[in-house]
Amino acid sequence: MIRSALLWMSENSWCKNTLPRYGFVRRAVRRFMPGEELEDALGAARSMVEQHRIPALITFLGENVADEAEARSVTNHYIHTAEAIAAAGLDVELSLKPTHLGLDLGIDVAEENLRRVTAAAEAWGNWVWLDMEYSRYVDPTLDLYRSIRADHPKFGICLQSYLHRTPDDLESLIPLGSAVRLVKGAYAEPPDVALPVKADVDQAFFDQAIRMLAPDAREAGVRVGLATHDARLIRRIESWAEANGAGGDACEYQMLYGIAEQEQRRLAGAGKGVRVLISYGEHWFPWYVRRLAERPANVGFVLRSLLPR
Ligand SMILES: Cc1cc2nc3c(=O)[nH]c(=O)nc-3n(C[C@H](O)[C@H](O)[C@H](O)COP(=O)(O)OP(=O)(O)OC[C@H]3O[C@@H](n4cnc5c(N)ncnc54)[C@H](O)[C@@H]3O)c2cc1C
Repeated sequence: MIRSALLWMSENSWCKNTLPRYGFVRRAVRRFMPGEELEDALGAARSMVEQHRIPALITFLGENVADEAEARSVTNHYIHTAEAIAAAGLDVELSLKPTHLGLDLGIDVAEENLRRVTAAAEAWGNWVWLDMEYSRYVDPTLDLYRSIRADHPKFGICLQSYLHRTPDDLESLIPLGSAVRLVKGAYAEPPDVALPVKADVDQAFFDQAIRMLAPDAREAGVRVGLATHDARLIRRIESWAEANGAGGDACEYQMLYGIAEQEQRRLAGAGKGVRVLISYGEHWFPWYVRRLAERPANVGFVLRSLLPR
């Protein structure tokens, strides 16, 4: 119930335009976001490496851009970001949303923009990851991925365990030696599209994670990103991986900045691959409300930030 209400809010124009103006909402978002500027994200990435030896991914927040000039400006921002990361000498990869680069304006617009970003990142030897949004975007996002990956090998894609179609999509990506980030899925989807019961989503994530760690996937060169904060699930995957000779650096756990920090440090301390996704930018409201929906107890943090400090 609370999750559905929050996911509705994440799309509501009045909420998107009004709530971010309130100081208590702005204060609460800081828990998940070091700041709105690229420099804030790069500063946090530097601290994560220096203090915990955890490298980062960064994402410039925004989605569903409906104007071609704005999509181009987002593209130029990412190109500048690729250069800034190289200049800072940091191990930071890029993660971006297809609709932020213009997918709603047509696949050609998104492809042209994405090709410019992947080419710029490749020039600096860097990786780019494509996020996965609502289910209506899965086919065009996979098309974009397959087309661009043919020319740019350091290019990864996200798949969502909650979708009924994901096992088939995964099978189609494994022989390509793709880089796949597996997530449970953050959007409101109907039951004919996505598993409605959380325990089934957790099981699907486990099944798909171990599929990505199977010998044929490893031989094909699949880069395995397991993006979850679910410590119990991570331990289950670790036990399976150790028992099946897929331990060590066979996969990388990816988590969000400010969430499950103890687990991030435990994994890094045990020599496992970990990467933290740091978000920045002024259009944080829909993204932030999806974070609240993932754990409705987070709403308590927002309400507590209303109290005088
Ligand atoms: C690096 C990364 C990239 C992602 N990219 C995408 C994407 O492209 N598309 C997409 O649909 N989704 C994406 N997601 C979000 C993902 O789909 C889930 O919604 C999110 O990760 C929560 O699920 P979970 O696997 O952590 O497990 P859950 O079972 O939801 O949570 C397990 C535990 O983790 C902690 N936790 C989880 N979320 C939160 C939170 N918001 N605040 C505080 N504690 C929390 C809690 O302790 C919770 O009990 C991404 C997530 C990560 C980490």
